[in-house]
Amino acid sequence: MNLTLAIPLLAGLAAWIVTNLLADTLPFTPAKAPHCGNAACRAPLPWQDYLLLRRCPKCGQPRRARTWVLLALLLAASFYIWLSPPRDIGYAGGLVVFVYLTSVAVIDLEHRLILQPLSIAGLFIGAGTGFLMVEDWWNVPLGAVAGFAILGIFYLFGKLFVRLNARRLGTNAGGEEALGRGDITLAIILGLMLGWPLIWFGILLGVLLAGAVSLVIILWLVITRRYKEQAFGIFIPLGPGFILAAMVILYFPLYLAVIVPR
Ligand SMILES: [Zn+2]
Repeated sequence: MNLTLAIPLLAGLAAWIVTNLLADTLPFTPAKAPHCGNAACRAPLPWQDYLLLRRCPKCGQPRRARTWVLLALLLAASFYIWLSPPRDIGYAGGLVVFVYLTSVAVIDLEHRLILQPLSIAGLFIGAGTGFLMVEDWWNVPLGAVAGFAILGIFYLFGKLFVRLNARRLGTNAGGEEALGRGDITLAIILGLMLGWPLIWFGILLGVLLAGAVSLVIILWLVITRRYKEQAFGIFIPLGPGFILAAMVILYFPLYLAVIVPR
């Protein structure tokens, strides 16, 4: 085998272990070693079995599909980034950012949470990426402010909508929020990463991508005649939409240049 291809292969495997491990341990407090995904079992998985993708030794439950999806995704991403690394941050930086964004997206999809340790790490990773990639350093903090402001306005409108909707239905608007505070944090992180003015395009693209995914889910519910019972419980994956948009901007800039010339 070509020796230089061993680097993206091994780094891709390492990236997969890190991403999968973060998604399996971080959302649980106190953070504990990986355990079986079967809700009735929850037995801790020995590290050897965990890393070798073996079934749960206690109940025989196979590993969750996400583990395999991430393996394919991170290997593919590692080779892709190796062949066309993002400008200024190179292969290593590109892979670190990809692992970070993927971990946040997976945890958001599975738990609808953007966790504090990942938020704090994101401020550093975002600022580091921004100062290396964004032209003119002041566009980095400006991007964060813009991300905060745009999502803040969305957040207030969402709150207003939930309140009006609750009044119309005569129920109490308790807890239910159209947009989480975590999404605002994510917009700040991506604002640092992409800088001004790319952040507004990232948010717009993210909303469109999240909307497209929701539309598919709604169509599926309508076709399977389950729309009514689910009508107010549809989850719009805004966070993962923003992350997907940021990935398109960071890793496929050539395709993007066709739409928005820089
Ligand atoms: Zn088990």
